[in-house]
Amino acid sequence: MPNPNYVHDCSRCIFLGSFTYMARYHKDRKSQTADLYYCPNKIDGSCIARFSSIGSDYSSFSSSIVKSNMSTWMSWADEEAESTASPALIEAYKRAVTSNLL
Ligand SMILES: [Zn+2]
Repeated sequence: MPNPNYVHDCSRCIFLGSFTYMARYHKDRKSQTADLYYCPNKIDGSCIARFSSIGSDYSSFSSSIVKSNMSTWMSWADEEAESTASPALIEAYKRAVTSNLL
């Protein structure tokens, strides 16, 4: 697997590869590359999408939240409610499942 594009500050995180997609920014879209991670935790691990090396420039939700909201988030595609990060978080969740981390 290629190396991450950005610096990430958590040593427990497991890199799941990068993901380039047309991210929604309000009424526009632009190509965005996210580094995807799964952060293990005893109770409920987190799915993480990092968008740059700036410390706070990431989105993170617990795996159970992504799982339970995935279909709703996908139903918002092409609507104003679609979030910038949700396609990357969904992809991180799917890769964590495929990698037997969940
Ligand atoms: Zn982590």
